Amino acid sequence: MTTHEVELLAIGAGPSNLGLAVALEELAPDLADNALIIDRNPTIEWQSGLLLPWAKSQVSFLKDLVTLRNPRSRFTFLNFLRSTGRLDDFINLGQQSPYRLEISAYLNWVADSLTRVRLELGRECVGIAPSRSDSGALTGWTTTLADGSTISSRYLVLATGRDPNIPPALAALPPNRIIHSTRYRPGIAELQKQLPYRLALIGSSQSAAEVFRALREDLPDSDVAWVMRSIGPTADPSSKFTNELYYPSYVDEFFATPATGRALIRQELYKTNYSCMTPAMLQRLYTDFYRDRLDQRQDRRLITMTEITAAREEDGEVVLELTDRRTSAVTELRRDLVFLGTGFDWRPPRLVQGLANAIGLASIEVTRGYRLVIDEPAEAACYLQGINEATHGIGDSLLSVLAHRARDITLDLINHRAAMNASNGRAATHGPTTLEHLAGR
Ligand SMILES: Cc1cc2nc3c(=O)[nH]c(=O)nc-3n(C[C@H](O)[C@H](O)[C@H](O)COP(=O)(O)OP(=O)(O)OC[C@H]3O[C@@H](n4cnc5c(N)ncnc54)[C@H](O)[C@@H]3O)c2cc1C
Repeated sequence: MTTHEVELLAIGAGPSNLGLAVALEELAPDLADNALIIDRNPTIEWQSGLLLPWAKSQVSFLKDLVTLRNPRSRFTFLNFLRSTGRLDDFINLGQQSPYRLEISAYLNWVADSLTRVRLELGRECVGIAPSRSDSGALTGWTTTLADGSTISSRYLVLATGRDPNIPPALAALPPNRIIHSTRYRPGIAELQKQLPYRLALIGSSQSAAEVFRALREDLPDSDVAWVMRSIGPTADPSSKFTNELYYPSYVDEFFATPATGRALIRQELYKTNYSCMTPAMLQRLYTDFYRDRLDQRQDRRLITMTEITAAREEDGEVVLELTDRRTSAVTELRRDLVFLGTGFDWRPPRLVQGLANAIGLASIEVTRGYRLVIDEPAEAACYLQGINEATHGIGDSLLSVLAHRARDITLDLINHRAAMNASNGRAATHGPTTLEHLAGR
């Protein structure tokens, strides 16, 4: 099996690590020359499971991989539009939010435009182990890929997204009966459009709403029961005021807030990003329901205030036990398939948990610069992107902060590298690099 070595390995070629690649090329070109990004998918696609033709980004096109950090960068969304001959059309459309497919195409264009950072697709990481010197000091990481080959690196950046959330009541169902929203497109591709399936959809998030809407087109003759705990689909209650808490400049303030205060802020902001949908989606869904009633169709319906309390497979079908939260009455719903719009697991992704276990960490915490806190002197470092909402705020999993986060990580890497070189007897060429040093680049 092959083994190769790079200075920095970034796992996951989604927006976070592509944004980091841009920051490395612009701010730390010598590190960029020895950096590699891998992704398990054979192509770069943004949220491929729900890359639906009508789905749009929920944030402004200006929150791309770089504009908020460096509007003069050649990697901006606007430069992508100009380079691909679509700038006039985009301006003429007059919308801030691009189609999800356009963001996906932009990510591909950025990946193709990188000149220093290397990218390898179809490379799935299955495990990460620490590398140690003879004295036991942590010197790097050995990443094992699905084909058995390994990559060793001193620096690691993990941006693999969160694991899908499968509610415990459904955990015993066979995997072929469940399609989580992250697998909507491949899942649908395996079904037969003309068959009248009996489907359950669970959850009340934007993803659940998108699945519900998509099922109308993809399986038009199916019976869909949309089950949710809440009183009904609701629009996100964001305002321009609460949106300010998604600014990259808010991360410092949030990070400095005591843990109890941070928890309170997250609770207040929860509904602005979770278990809700955009007002446009809500209007669309209601209009579809209205048309169904006009057509006297009753095979697409909502079951609200209801919890799935158990599930089993019996006589070739799925039996869901529904508990009405108002009356505690229990009923059964018999279905062929269950779609999940239940979001993501709040626990650290399995890959990160495995790495933490391998180095004996009792808890997974990062510094303000997103570096994993390691309880021992280490020449190696590991950075976590997109899973630090508890310490870095509600915007951490979104596009909103990633241009600045890429800069913060790059700055931390530059200084960590300089400190390691100095302690290995190599002369430091200058003092610590600061934001002011990077400002001109
Ligand atoms: C349906 C949906 C819509 C969204 N829309 C918006 C939006 O409009 N605006 C917004 O700001 N945010 C949105 N988000 C939030 C989203 O998390 C961010 O926009 C963004 O995708 C985060 O980027 P990321 O690179 O951290 O993770 P991801 O985009 O999730 O990318 C992770 C990458 O890691 C790869 N990977 C995972 N495991 C491995 C492994 N073991 N080995 C190798 N590669 C691996 C995956 O293939 C993937 O390419 C949306 C999320 C979803 C689910």
